[in-house]
Amino acid sequence: MKLLVVGSGLFGAVVARERALAGDQVTVIEKRDHIAGNIYTEDVAGIQVHRYGAHIFHTNSERVWQYVQQFATFNRFTNQVIANYHDRLFNLPFNMNTFHQMWGVTTPAEAQAKIAEQQQAGATRRPHNLEEQAIALVGTDIYETLIKEYTAKQWGRAPIDLPAFIIRRLPVRFTYDNNYFSDIHQGIPVGGYTQIVAKMLKLPTISVQLNTDFLTKKAAYLADYDRIVYSGMIDAFFDYQFGALGYRSLRFATELLDTPNFQGNAVINYTDAETPYTRIIEHKHFEFGAGNRQQTVITREYPAIWTPGAEPYYPINDPENDALFQQYRQYAATAAPKVIFGGRLGAYRYYNMDQVIAAALQVARNEQLFK
Ligand code: FAD
Ligand code: UDP
Repeated sequence: MKLLVVGSGLFGAVVARERALAGDQVTVIEKRDHIAGNIYTEDVAGIQVHRYGAHIFHTNSERVWQYVQQFATFNRFTNQVIANYHDRLFNLPFNMNTFHQMWGVTTPAEAQAKIAEQQQAGATRRPHNLEEQAIALVGTDIYETLIKEYTAKQWGRAPIDLPAFIIRRLPVRFTYDNNYFSDIHQGIPVGGYTQIVAKMLKLPTISVQLNTDFLTKKAAYLADYDRIVYSGMIDAFFDYQFGALGYRSLRFATELLDTPNFQGNAVINYTDAETPYTRIIEHKHFEFGAGNRQQTVITREYPAIWTPGAEPYYPINDPENDALFQQYRQYAATAAPKVIFGGRLGAYRYYNMDQVIAAALQVARNEQLFK
């Protein structure tokens, strides 16, 4: 089969590799000037810089963990985020350290009692939105200090206008455990993420073309290939004919500094409304300072409105957008039967890397789709 894969991010790369191994002739096209999509990392002064924001690999899937081991060695990095609210520091995710810092409580029973008191104040029975969900989980003090302003900044919307599932991404624990994730496996690939995608695509039956946008030659590609796997925006594929899906964009400001250690942690969140960025990443701490002892690279992450042409980093999975996405999905089944949509943009889901790999393996190993 002659297969075209649009996008060289994790989704496209896994599908390209698995289909090439299954015997297909694969062409990958990528509109950026590099492979690897948003997991792209590059060497800056000996430090692996995550160009599109901090990426920490974590998974509960043994199958996905074994799969990625083929392409990199993972270090023991555990994400332990610090939140800065007007120069008061708190541990994230919400755990006994956070509760102690907020209220001075020292036991789980005291913390639970404090939260229960504040849940009543927030009058939340069945959370319908992010604000209600957050108060139900951690009470009003933590909501006001660590969630409300950060979330409004990140999404450009009040938490009452956002789906509850977004805050459920963060664990709430009554133990002194600062691990941002609860998955069994976690780490950063030593030497960065780009090598993972490079190795996936290094097969004789895969060719890769950079700086190539599918949408500029859509009709020709549709005519030339037996199957197309498309990991770009589904609304853009159909020229936004039912309207544009909602996305949130970001701007990254990266600096090389002549100081060995800027902030002492890989990720510090700024949870107040006045600071215009959401977080500062200090990349060397993902690899425990290896590579450069004199300098450091930091990136400030600024949330941004998405407009056509901007990078669509986050899908906004509220009921209106999910319904619009379903409309595109149904239309695609008849209007573009050769095309398989997938990945964070094609499936319009707030996927982590491990979910993207699992979804890509499922697609690639479904022989019915490639007959
Ligand atoms: P992408 O990486 O977006 O790849 C799609 C590719 O398709 C891009 O290279 C794009 O240029 C290309 N493309 C699009 N349209 C076209 C076209 N028309 N023609 C040609 N090429 C096209 N996940 C985690 O597990 N842990 C984390 O810590 C984490 N942190 C994140 C932080 C940020 C700021 C963001 C935005 C995401 C984070 N993620 C994290 C999620 C992770 O980035 C995604 O799950 C993963 O990269 C998605 O892979 P993908 O291939 O679906 O999409
Ligand atoms: N969040 C918050 N305060 C924080 C960190 C996260 O309120 O300090 C909320 C915010 O709404 C964010 C969501 O939790 O969008 C999910 O956080 P996560 O760190 O998973 O976001 P991502 O890394 O995907 O941007």
